[in-house]
Amino acid sequence: MEEFDLVVVGAGPAGNRAAISAAEAGVNTLLLEEHPIIGRPISCGEGISRDALNTFDLPVEDADYFNRPVKEFRMFAPNASVVKLRIDGFIINREKFDQYNAKLAAEAGAEVKTRHRVIGVKRVGEELEIQVLKNNSEKLSFSSKIVIDGTGPSARIGKMIGAQTPEKYVFGVEYKLKGITTESFDFYLDFEKYKRGYIWIFPKGDDHANVGIVTTRPEPRKLLDEFITERQIEGEIMQYIGGAIPMTGPVKEPVENNFLAAGDAAGTANALFYGGIRAALISGDLAGKIASKAIKEKNYSKERLMEYPNILFTLPIADESIILAHRIFYNFKNDVYNHFSTILDGYYLDKLGISGYLKAGYIGFLDKYGRKMRKELWTMIKGFKTTAEWGF
Ligand SMILES: Cc1cc2nc3c(=O)[nH]c(=O)nc-3n(C[C@H](O)[C@H](O)[C@H](O)COP(=O)(O)OP(=O)(O)OC[C@H]3O[C@@H](n4cnc5c(N)ncnc54)[C@H](O)[C@@H]3O)c2cc1C
Repeated sequence: MEEFDLVVVGAGPAGNRAAISAAEAGVNTLLLEEHPIIGRPISCGEGISRDALNTFDLPVEDADYFNRPVKEFRMFAPNASVVKLRIDGFIINREKFDQYNAKLAAEAGAEVKTRHRVIGVKRVGEELEIQVLKNNSEKLSFSSKIVIDGTGPSARIGKMIGAQTPEKYVFGVEYKLKGITTESFDFYLDFEKYKRGYIWIFPKGDDHANVGIVTTRPEPRKLLDEFITERQIEGEIMQYIGGAIPMTGPVKEPVENNFLAAGDAAGTANALFYGGIRAALISGDLAGKIASKAIKEKNYSKERLMEYPNILFTLPIADESIILAHRIFYNFKNDVYNHFSTILDGYYLDKLGISGYLKAGYIGFLDKYGRKMRKELWTMIKGFKTTAEWGF
């Protein structure tokens, strides 16, 4: 049985980043991915911010995963009024992005193996036996001191170990549609129809877009098809993808003896707009660093590994305002949201100007709905601000 200090499962943003930070710390690291090609199949709208890439010194415009810049975020109310935000974001090619990060992990010294699906984890004394199905046929095992779960929303390793895993999810489906485009990250709200979610249209290339939906409603694809028909969006479907996203923020204890979870496996996706790449990168990096320290100290206990959530929960990606804002935002009635959105119709929230501030002041102090909801609106603004700064 081959021996490693650390096995990271899943070559998505979380797993890749965990493998990079552990390998850079000099830890003998193995990164296992079940699919033959890293990043494929993707389930992602592919939106990310410059800050997310800058945090890890990842290249932006000159990277092979760079697709196009996006400078605006628009949120359409059910009555079609719109509030906007200026942003510094991008559409990336997620497949290439994951491949780039896995390559960094290999360059840092991690061994990267594709077509290796982890099917079991057994505790042997102080260490672990990681059981793998290679090429869908051959069974083999690796020994490891710690395992990091980067398996995404399925949180497969956490479930095998009996760790805390995310409990609530929204479900996302998306078409890559040829023949339509937009210049911004566009979000379409209907609190009754798209429960706990929204429809998005993100620009992809010159003549195609990522058009998707997240919701807790059953049959999201049917709702997306209805939206496309109602708006007479005509485009050729180039690809259809889907997946789950944890919707209530990081689990409180994403650790057990010999175990840490990062990214969606730990529920880190932003609970307001469900962007999860950046939080996966950050939590993966941190998980890799804490695991490395524990390995050097020869202490793989849950108690030692609790340093990870203790730090994670001080970071903005785990800020409580995000989940509080989720609860208020997704409980709006369409008519109340329409009311507020109509008052701020056409404004950039980051640059309200004098008339915009007067309107916001009107909502907070004079408006009959605004006065009643003043506390909730403040909480929601805080969650939106954190999300705008850290959620993608
Ligand atoms: C439709 C949709 C659109 C989205 N759009 C955006 C967006 O625009 N921007 C954004 O920031 N976020 C978006 N997200 C969320 C984002 O994709 C996730 O939060 C992010 O991918 C989480 O990264 P991760 O590394 O935790 O998990 P993943 O990216 O899911 O990676 C997990 C990896 O683990 C591998 N794996 C799983 N089980 C095993 C096993 N047993 N053995 C070996 N390997 C295994 C998988 O093959 C996969 O490669 C979207 C999600 C969906 C579903």
